[in-house]
Amino acid sequence: MSTKYIFVTGGVTSSLGKGIICSSLGKLLVSRGLRVTVQKLDPYINVDPGTMNPYEHGEVYVTDDGAETDLDLGHYERFLDISTSQENNVTTGRIYFDVITKERQGAYLGKTVQVIPHITDEIKSHVLALGRSDKYDVVIIEIGGTVGDIEGQPYIEAMRQIRYDVGRKNTLSIHLTLVPYLKAARELKTKPTQHSVKTLYEIGLQPDILVCRTEVPIDKSIRQKIALFTNVEIEDVIASMDAESIYMVPFMMKEEGLDTRVIEKLGLNAGEADLDTWQDFVNAVLRPEKHIKIALVGKYVEHHDAYKSIVEAFIHGGAVNNCRVEIVWTQSDDVTDENVARKLKGVSGVLVAPGFGSRGAAGKLAAIRYAREQKIPFFGICLGMQCAVIEYAKNVCNWEDANSTEFDPETQYPIIDLMPDQKKIHDKGGTMRLGLYNCKLSEGSKAAAAYKEEMIRERHRHRYEVNNQLRYKLVENGMTLTGFNPERDLVEIVELDDHPWFVGVQFHPELRSTVNRPHPLFVSFVKAAKEHAEKHKLSKPVKENVPVA
Ligand code: GLN
Repeated sequence: MSTKYIFVTGGVTSSLGKGIICSSLGKLLVSRGLRVTVQKLDPYINVDPGTMNPYEHGEVYVTDDGAETDLDLGHYERFLDISTSQENNVTTGRIYFDVITKERQGAYLGKTVQVIPHITDEIKSHVLALGRSDKYDVVIIEIGGTVGDIEGQPYIEAMRQIRYDVGRKNTLSIHLTLVPYLKAARELKTKPTQHSVKTLYEIGLQPDILVCRTEVPIDKSIRQKIALFTNVEIEDVIASMDAESIYMVPFMMKEEGLDTRVIEKLGLNAGEADLDTWQDFVNAVLRPEKHIKIALVGKYVEHHDAYKSIVEAFIHGGAVNNCRVEIVWTQSDDVTDENVARKLKGVSGVLVAPGFGSRGAAGKLAAIRYAREQKIPFFGICLGMQCAVIEYAKNVCNWEDANSTEFDPETQYPIIDLMPDQKKIHDKGGTMRLGLYNCKLSEGSKAAAAYKEEMIRERHRHRYEVNNQLRYKLVENGMTLTGFNPERDLVEIVELDDHPWFVGVQFHPELRSTVNRPHPLFVSFVKAAKEHAEKHKLSKPVKENVPVA
């Protein structure tokens, strides 16, 4: 069977949830026994989102192979339980970079290099490479932005050409659109959909299926109207209502027949969907027994997408522990030694988040000190772990001036410092320690108990490390170093023995948590937080169902 390509475009406006629709469709196809991957095409000029501000773009999602990618890849991995790579995220910047590099090498000698065919050919080669790898029955391609945007045009044109090249029967065009409800008129409006489909027609990519985002149910007459004006069959008008949790969307899409229509139209040989474990998970998410609060201390907290994978990992870890984790978003800038008790009142755990730069560092140290001294379960991730080390060096080892050279290049005790190989690097894009690295766990540690393994592999994204020349001081004063990268003797995990749960990790565990494989450290942290809540009477039964994600 040749690989099938499903193009997913969006119309009318952004933020319709294309990533979740692609992930849900992918999940349904995987549950029917098909081999599926999802690729995101981003129309911006950055080569990757690695250099973008989290306020601008949300979290940067790092893959096993160390690519810095769009956060939608996180959804694909969490839903489909797959590993994505650099090939799953292509940006206009990368396409142009590659074309211009080839032009300089003389690859197009004699030719004028143009958007069509050179840019479109480069886009096509990235899409078809996944198909030709022989690893997938279906490749779902999510095209970023909105149909009609200037930047998106070469992508739509490339998809049109792929349809022509590989044959219509091997491709499918799904268009996600908005059907707004006007309260005053008490009416659903189909005009925006008609317009965005018309734009797609003009570019030559007729939709086969429409997924209509709506606040209220769409009845048969509206479906008929949409079908008539957009030239699709009525069964191919799929309603996508707002959901209590994103993890319910696969069920909603199944109910609407999205997977069945896709399978019929592409002539795929697929079994029945098996969603039993997914159903168990969703039940645990929606109807947990207990409710606990965990503070997430970071400097981008106004923009929850900046910590997307952490939020999702808490949902996975919460479900295993039969409890809902309510995140108390805590701006590190606002935390001081004086107000920390008030800021963290009622929380059963403290997570200090990853990040860059010195803003908010003092607040993070205050939160860590409080969690350490009050014996509240603490989880430090990347910068959060580095801050835990600094806090310990300052307040327990009595190196008052201890710091990271990221915050204070002149510090007398650079307990967190750049590795010599990083000191030589001046470019910012793609130059951090990125992707999967080995980590050997110490026997008897909390980490080893959580993972139940001796050697693990986790994803990284940082420049600074615990300083190997100074780390003896931490050990002398009772901090245990429980995970090391064996190849380079780098500290990966720190713990405190005289504390119920105090773990800092140099890597990003949140990036590898999926519905099928909730991350062991999040499961273990939430368990410790739940125990803390029970001991201090902080946990509450869940009374009503509130949206969870
Ligand atoms: N800024 C720190 C570093 O570069 C931590 C990075 C992070 O939290 N991802 O090492």
